[in-house]
Amino acid sequence: MANIHVLDPITIDKIAAGEVIERPASIVKELVENSIDAGATGVTVEIQDGGISFIRITDNGSGIARDDVQNAFLRHSTSKIRGIDDLVHVASLGFRGEALSSIAAVAQVELITKTAEETFGTKYQINGGKEQFLEETGAPNGTTFMIRQLFYNMPARRKFLKTPMTEASHINDLLMHLSLSHPEVSFRFLNNGQEKLRTSGNGNLKDVIYNIYGREVAGNLIQISYDRDNLRITGFLGKPIITRGNRNFENFFFNGRYVKSAMVSKAAEDAYKDFVMQHKFPFLVLHFTMDGEDLDVNVHPTKMELRFHKQQEVYNCVYETVHRALLEPELIPQVELPD
Ligand code: ADP
Ligand code: MG
Repeated sequence: MANIHVLDPITIDKIAAGEVIERPASIVKELVENSIDAGATGVTVEIQDGGISFIRITDNGSGIARDDVQNAFLRHSTSKIRGIDDLVHVASLGFRGEALSSIAAVAQVELITKTAEETFGTKYQINGGKEQFLEETGAPNGTTFMIRQLFYNMPARRKFLKTPMTEASHINDLLMHLSLSHPEVSFRFLNNGQEKLRTSGNGNLKDVIYNIYGREVAGNLIQISYDRDNLRITGFLGKPIITRGNRNFENFFFNGRYVKSAMVSKAAEDAYKDFVMQHKFPFLVLHFTMDGEDLDVNVHPTKMELRFHKQQEVYNCVYETVHRALLEPELIPQVELPD
């Protein structure tokens, strides 16, 4: 007797969702990245209970046309690429078409959306992968997602969530990184009705740094800029007087994505060696722009490690740029010379 069978779509989605959706912050990441991809200039994130019971994300982006709404929740459905060749030049943060189907598989999802061309918007509800309703509704241009009861249908998974406070702090970190990577977008974050973060969206990275880290950090920055052979590095370094005991102050963005890179950390820290005490780490917000061909964005969706060619070249550029900036005359203690 044959024993092998193909799983039903809802089971497939639940299993796949486990890969993409680990915790409330995973949902916020996917939905806010969708908002940015949709050209939003304002994104508001509201959570209750660390995002476990409630997440609302409102954007003023393109909206989803009514005829696209159901398709958007199918697995591997995307408006961002058509084939594998598009991946090299993909400018959007998403392209897998997995987020909405995954979120809908493991939570209760309500969507209100309207494009500029439509007179009326669409309201859609899908719980645990099962469509509840789709109806016409009055709505502003843009998209609002409400996500309730994460893992309500996967009790084993729900048990692994941490306290609401811990889950909320993951979301806060994520939104800090998204704000720093997109100064042109105005972000607002409310946790249990309390405003935790607000950026103006005026495009000025230094203002975002001020909003997040405060006056002391914003007042002790060195601006850097490097531009040569397919590699551009812009952003800010902290003067050696503002250091930390850990790497949480190091923020790297490659082509608009927040990433971790041991190599870039090492290059920057090596450059700081002569300027800071041992076991102190620099404040860094560095934006890298490079050719898609030199970078592999097709790593696992939740992994932040980066894979790119020309490691040594990038190391050298970071080291040189940072080191040169730190040698600025105003940072070197001036010794009074006798006449
Ligand atoms: P991906 O982002 O990889 O394309 P998703 O599952 O995240 O896949 O989203 C599926 C599609 O739904 C997107 O390609 C996009 O067309 C549409 N979409 C999702 N969120 C939004 C949004 N906030 N505004 C406009 N369109 C959206
Ligand atoms: Mg997406």
